[in-house]
Amino acid sequence: IEQIEAIASSMKRSFHLYEKAKEVIPGGVTANIKYFAPHPIIMERGKGSRLVDVDGNEYVDYLLCYGALILGHGHPKVIESIMRQIITDGTTVFGAPHMLETLMAKKIIQAFPSMEMVRYTNSGLEATLLAIRLAQAFTGKTAIAKFEGHYHGGYDQVLISVNPSVTEAGDEKEPKAVPESKGIPPQYTDETIILPFNDVEATEAILRKHKNRLAAVILEPVQGGFIPADAIFMKELRAITKELGIVLIFDEVKTGFRITYGGAQTVYGIAPDLTALGKVLGGGFPIGVVGGKKEIMEQMDPRRGKDALSIETDKANKGDVLFHSGTYNGHPTVLAAGLATLDVLQQPETMPRLLQMTNMLREGLEAVYRAYGIPMKTVGLGSIFNIVLTEQDVKNYRDLTKANMKLREEIDYELLGHGVYTKPGNRYSMSVVHTEEDIAWTIEAHEKAIRKVKN
Ligand code: PLP
Repeated sequence: IEQIEAIASSMKRSFHLYEKAKEVIPGGVTANIKYFAPHPIIMERGKGSRLVDVDGNEYVDYLLCYGALILGHGHPKVIESIMRQIITDGTTVFGAPHMLETLMAKKIIQAFPSMEMVRYTNSGLEATLLAIRLAQAFTGKTAIAKFEGHYHGGYDQVLISVNPSVTEAGDEKEPKAVPESKGIPPQYTDETIILPFNDVEATEAILRKHKNRLAAVILEPVQGGFIPADAIFMKELRAITKELGIVLIFDEVKTGFRITYGGAQTVYGIAPDLTALGKVLGGGFPIGVVGGKKEIMEQMDPRRGKDALSIETDKANKGDVLFHSGTYNGHPTVLAAGLATLDVLQQPETMPRLLQMTNMLREGLEAVYRAYGIPMKTVGLGSIFNIVLTEQDVKNYRDLTKANMKLREEIDYELLGHGVYTKPGNRYSMSVVHTEEDIAWTIEAHEKAIRKVKN
């Protein structure tokens, strides 16, 4: 409490504004995950790697809108691209096909060779939802399997066993399906099978047991964006799902264009049947994408089963076509921001520098914790990592629950007071505009925070 009060005293205006927000917005936040005690910080400005709150406190930002802002805040190329698009086209949105849609689709397909076709959505959530529906229609089956601790968006089918209590979740080799929210009807916990990440034998046994009802296996190939799948696990999972006729969906909403340009599937050399993308691809605006094999994607073709020149109503062949819609799908301003982002990421020096800076930060942080005798490792791949206070291997959700979360949280609160922003407990995402100065600042802030909480 003392720690929280000390930090809150430098955030008086934030606190006041939060009180007002609470009156009209439940909990004062637009997403439950954006809340943290005693109150979330109200931000006023962003520039590059920095955020400034309404009290004038400046932070090096590692949350980066939950990983979306790989170019940092207000990158000039992104701003220029969206301004040009709006001014040239004379509209914010067409509500009809336009040229950027195909241009972006080609760029995505080039980066992700497992994809032959793509469709746009407005969020990562919608992308995984659509991918699952495609798998269900393609296989004629209704159940899905997901991994314990993996997040795919906040809807009923997958908002299960994301962050369950270990006692409720039962045997780690055959975890129970635990709903994450009130209001999830019980049929979803019956139709969503939970798998243990990075455990080949247990995963295979569960998949074989339920093979006749499983339409899809969906996973974050790098759990939470920072716990990589073992290469052998990935290879086996691909082989088993192929053998059993289960659609394999990679949720690369966090990892796409981030751990490397072509995402986790490029790192592992594994082709899923479907992939969901989001975050980085929107250049700071809302987006999602589903991409994959033509035969699965073409289920959405509204011409399906019809004569090319037919003027039959949509209704006539409804049974054959998988429904997908969205007023803002393929929004031109979003695609303009995304295309500018991909252009910067494709410059030959961009990704190597980003990875080098991420490693520099990871090594610096590990050295500080070592110096203070705190068991710690950074766990990650590419430009995302997390600080896990443990000496044990971290391979899945159960391993994470054994780390010293309390100390991590105490340090994170102190960091807010020393100008380092991430939501307490969250992973670190880097941007291409983070500097060596930012890294030095961050390492020093950690040292100050550790000294404070150790006293
Ligand atoms: N899938 C993964 C792996 C995510 O990390 C997220 C968001 O954090 C989503 C899906 C949902 O994306 P959105 O928040 O854009 O709906």
